[in-house]
Amino acid sequence: MKENEFLNELTKLNINLTTEQEEKLKIYAEFLLTYNEHTNLTAIKNIDEVYLKHFYDSLTISKIVTFTNESLLDIGTGAGFPGLVLAIVYPNLQVTLLDSNNKKIKFLQECLTKLNLSNVTLINKRAEDYAKINREKFDFVTSRAVAELRILLELGIPTLKVNGHFLVMKANLTLEEKNNSLVALKELSSKINSTIEFSLPNNGGFRTILDIIKTNKTKSIYPRTYDKIKKKILK
Ligand code: SAM
Repeated sequence: MKENEFLNELTKLNINLTTEQEEKLKIYAEFLLTYNEHTNLTAIKNIDEVYLKHFYDSLTISKIVTFTNESLLDIGTGAGFPGLVLAIVYPNLQVTLLDSNNKKIKFLQECLTKLNLSNVTLINKRAEDYAKINREKFDFVTSRAVAELRILLELGIPTLKVNGHFLVMKANLTLEEKNNSLVALKELSSKINSTIEFSLPNNGGFRTILDIIKTNKTKSIYPRTYDKIKKKILK
């Protein structure tokens, strides 16, 4: 997807970027591809695909919510998707990018310096460790392509405020995966508010976004250690 086409598609999502935001995205795309030549961050190797499969895809969240000045945690952000793109497009949103992989956090640190963003905090930790001590803190949690839904719920829901939204982005969420998460949803006092399914433009692939709402405080036993989350999966 060429940059012009990207901007055009964004207007359909009611997103109109300033020249400064367009410039920041371009710097981000070019830096990602350059950095990727020596450090593996993404399988995507050209700028048109960055615009489609990273930038546009990240912003499809706007099909469900628009942000103003809330707080958002992006779990397993990798090279910043969707969290860093949202931070550029919504400059009053307070974004925390979390990843356990320190080479991804190092890349993001350099990005922040280049992009001159002041609404982003970086955390180099495992989500379950972070969630244990950062409870009921965020209005929104996002996560794209990180883990099976019922595992992800245990990592993300504890960090959400009551009535907060967990937006889970997946390329292929099966009905089985969704049904398997029903016990975890209940145990973690949350429910699916809506599910949207769509295809990216230019045959970019099928996508699902789940909007999950937290209805009550999370029991203090969650999240458990990762070992327990994996071995004694909520089911
Ligand atoms: N969200 C990004 C995207 O869509 O491009 C990255 C997806 S990548 C497949 C998964 C990322 O999740 C990796 O960067 C990995 O280090 C991180 N991750 C997986 N489990 C994690 C955990 N328990 N805590 C923190 N980060 C985790």
